[in-house]
Amino acid sequence: MKILNDPFLEWPFFDEKHRHFAMDLLAFVKTHQKSLEADGVEEKTAVRQLALLLGRGGWLRPLLPEWLGGPRPKVDTRTLCLTRDIIARYSGLADCTFAMQGLAAIPLVLFGTPEQQATYLPGLCDGNLIGAFCLSEAQAGSDVAALQTSAIREQDHYVLNGEKTWISNAGVAHCYIVFARTGEAPGAKGLSAFIVNADTAGFSVPENLTMVAPHVIGRVSFKDCKIPLSARLGGAGDGFKVAMSTLDIMRSTVGAAAVGFARRAMMETLIHTQNRQVFGQNLSAFQSTQMRLADMAIEVDSAALLVYRAAWTKDTLRDRITLEASMAKLQATEAAQRVIDSAVQLFGGLGVTAGSVTERLYREIRPLRIYEGASEIQKLIICAALLK
Ligand SMILES: Cc1cc2nc3c(=O)[nH]c(=O)nc-3n(C[C@H](O)[C@H](O)[C@H](O)COP(=O)(O)OP(=O)(O)OC[C@H]3O[C@@H](n4cnc5c(N)ncnc54)[C@H](O)[C@@H]3O)c2cc1C
Repeated sequence: MKILNDPFLEWPFFDEKHRHFAMDLLAFVKTHQKSLEADGVEEKTAVRQLALLLGRGGWLRPLLPEWLGGPRPKVDTRTLCLTRDIIARYSGLADCTFAMQGLAAIPLVLFGTPEQQATYLPGLCDGNLIGAFCLSEAQAGSDVAALQTSAIREQDHYVLNGEKTWISNAGVAHCYIVFARTGEAPGAKGLSAFIVNADTAGFSVPENLTMVAPHVIGRVSFKDCKIPLSARLGGAGDGFKVAMSTLDIMRSTVGAAAVGFARRAMMETLIHTQNRQVFGQNLSAFQSTQMRLADMAIEVDSAALLVYRAAWTKDTLRDRITLEASMAKLQATEAAQRVIDSAVQLFGGLGVTAGSVTERLYREIRPLRIYEGASEIQKLIICAALLK
């Protein structure tokens, strides 16, 4: 198999099925590069189109285990990481679309009833249903346990009140995984998870926000929003567990997306520095450039090693990989930022010219150091695990 351009696929973290999957996906993204980039397409329309493109291509199926129609006996974190690593090289918005389908589907796979799974998972995985994951609030971002959106149980239903912010896919999603306070215990132990359909009375999207890079995101509001008991995902008081188990899978994939952005920056920089003439020779002929290129390559590989170490640990050794996933997410997102900054520097004026690949990557990488736990929070998690 020709894996010359991606020698990391030879690593022992992968089996032949992973390698075939990656090669097929690489061929797919090259064929559909224009559609994936979605240049000039209005963002919400782009998300709908991208979800369908990925769904029809079968690239959302790895979000499911075999017994629900997926390709492997259980959800394979390495496959999800490979998917984001490869898609992110071409499109941050397509990567985000994949991630959000994951953040909606994984809690349903892990905690959904057969009815909930049958209602939502087929659509989420063929791209006809778009998902969202609603944890953050204006006063509860890093400090998840401080969230205040409430869900009060009344006979055969719950009533939700509150507001969430920075919710990816706000206004384009059909179903929202919502975390709300049900009060079984103080703090994190008093939260439950729910599935809220976009057409539920009392649910609204009062505002969409604009990010540095294309991203559908906004506030979502619940005003006396009545949902049936059957919309609860997992047990009463299990909300934190639902959120953290989901992030335990998805956090490594954030690192993988960062690796994908960094690989693209690396690739573009290798080409550019070998073609750009300065002071009568190629930019790559200068030792200072070579030092920088070597540093970039080491950053990419060390980030990828941590990402695939975490994913492999999850798939083959044990279910909880909080420490490994946090290390992978932290190192990969911070390293990718440095790699992309170096790429911008080596491109000179072109590097910051709107519309150039490096300029796009520079904007796309930044939010990854913040969402699904900012870098500082990852360090707290890592240290808590070490001291345990
Ligand atoms: C592009 C994007 C997409 C997002 N999508 C979603 C989504 O779909 N669903 C969702 O629920 N949320 C989403 N979020 C929200 C995201 O998860 C939060 O922004 C993130 O958790 C940080 O919370 P915050 O913004 O309130 O920052 P804060 O919690 O206010 O943190 C600000 C800074 O303080 C630092 N800090 C906080 N606590 C400590 C501490 N104890 N010690 C040291 N430093 C600390 C943080 O690391 C950070 O640097 C998204 C955010 C972005 C940027």
